[in-house]
Amino acid sequence: MKKILNYINGELKEPKNKKFLDNVNPATGQVYSLVPDSSEADVSEAVAAAEQAFPAWSQTSVETRVRFMRKIADKIQEKHDALTLAESIDSGKPVSVSGTVDIPRSKTNFEFFADAMTQFHGETFQTDTRALNYVTYSPLGVVACISPWNLPLYLFTWKIAPALVAGNTVVAKPSELTPMTAFLLSEIAIEVGLPKGVLNIIHGRGPEVGAPMVNHPSIKAVSFTGSTATGRHIAQSIAGSFKKISLEMGGKNANIVFADCDFNKAVETTVRSSFSNQGQICLCGSRIFVEKSIYEKFKAALVEKTLQLKQGDPLKPETQQGAVVSKDHQDKVFSYIEHAKGEKATILCGGKKAEMGGEFAGGYYIQPTLIEGLSYQSKVNQEEIFGPVATLTPFESEDEVLKMVNSTKYGLAASVWTQDLKRGHRIAQKIESGIVWVNTWMLRDLRTPFGGVKESGVGREGGKHALEFMSEVKNICIGME
Ligand code: NAD
Repeated sequence: MKKILNYINGELKEPKNKKFLDNVNPATGQVYSLVPDSSEADVSEAVAAAEQAFPAWSQTSVETRVRFMRKIADKIQEKHDALTLAESIDSGKPVSVSGTVDIPRSKTNFEFFADAMTQFHGETFQTDTRALNYVTYSPLGVVACISPWNLPLYLFTWKIAPALVAGNTVVAKPSELTPMTAFLLSEIAIEVGLPKGVLNIIHGRGPEVGAPMVNHPSIKAVSFTGSTATGRHIAQSIAGSFKKISLEMGGKNANIVFADCDFNKAVETTVRSSFSNQGQICLCGSRIFVEKSIYEKFKAALVEKTLQLKQGDPLKPETQQGAVVSKDHQDKVFSYIEHAKGEKATILCGGKKAEMGGEFAGGYYIQPTLIEGLSYQSKVNQEEIFGPVATLTPFESEDEVLKMVNSTKYGLAASVWTQDLKRGHRIAQKIESGIVWVNTWMLRDLRTPFGGVKESGVGREGGKHALEFMSEVKNICIGME
């Protein structure tokens, strides 16, 4: 069986304890490869390698670092099909998603930050005729990048690319549930000749690998994407260390549909925003609020379109819905559906395991599920489910919908559907979330900072902000009198 290996100091290695975890294909429930069950000893080796590589890497020219980023991007392009396949098998997501969203975006991440670095610069401020101030940025040292399973290579590279191009060296950990594309990235790093120790990738579980990484005294910054519970744990464990920290965490995003919306576009996009990647995108809108006057019509159209989603083998190009990532996650999602039933909600469609048969009989499939009749305060409407489950709730006024939308502890993203631009702007200002889309969804300009508010995020990633986050800032003031 294929063994995934750690990537330390330019070499692919088994973990020191020789232990491996099963890597399961969620579409079949079968183990198809093995992933290192690494420990603190591997983390220490990786941090030491990154520390040793830092002086030389941080002093390479921007041009050299940018060239490496472009070479990695080119390799991702060259290996697009293999990476797409690997990510689909690892995560259960359809190739139609991994091949058009995840893998192209992973390539773009390296290209974007390569371009951004060529434009990144310090600033000068003149204090009348008395002084000239200049602000410089320099790399921090060794930084830790930790990512989740839902967009495995996309989110992994979103952290690694800005860290490397800014001149830091990196110790990174992908999710133990979806390690394969990170492993392929380590092979790419070797192929493009990235200097030893500049990037190190350690596989394994959170407490065994992630915790020693973030707590290692030589780690200067932590960039984490994952659940709010883990983010909180990390923040608490490094409080007082004064490491830079960026946490991108959970969400419970709202999708607000006003009666004056472009109806067909709103329905079509709502199906996508509810169920893309089986609802396992942090930006998916899992709470759909619809203005009362079009509620029944919208509901009927949404249910009809949802029932048309093709669920099946993730590797078939026509498949729109694959499997959720693991048995544990499947159980978690079903527990919320059961909770909704206990609250006498109506399951409009879905609600059950999707029976696939054949080799997919043991896969972790869930029918796309729409639920109505729950209070906005129900646990199903307050907690992150992160699966193919969305609720529908009618509303009568802007004030009423804003109260419901802002009632959760989360604040990651929201969508608003209205043709009234004034209302679009007004509502967008009042929604407590880091991102608001008006008449669109998941459209990202990478120059904009990305992140949530409330318990969805601390710090922001993306654009120039990512390069600033990965840098030490110094203000030098020259007296001129
Ligand atoms: P998770 O928090 O369980 O794990 C995320 C990563 O942290 C994994 O690599 C895991 O091994 C590691 N980890 C676990 N315990 C750790 C510890 N004690 N110390 C250090 N690292 C540790 O999250 P998940 O289940 O992999 O991902 C799903 C979550 O990610 C959802 O909540 C989703 O909303 C969130 N997410 C957020 C964004 C965003 O940009 N805000 C994007 C994608 C996913």
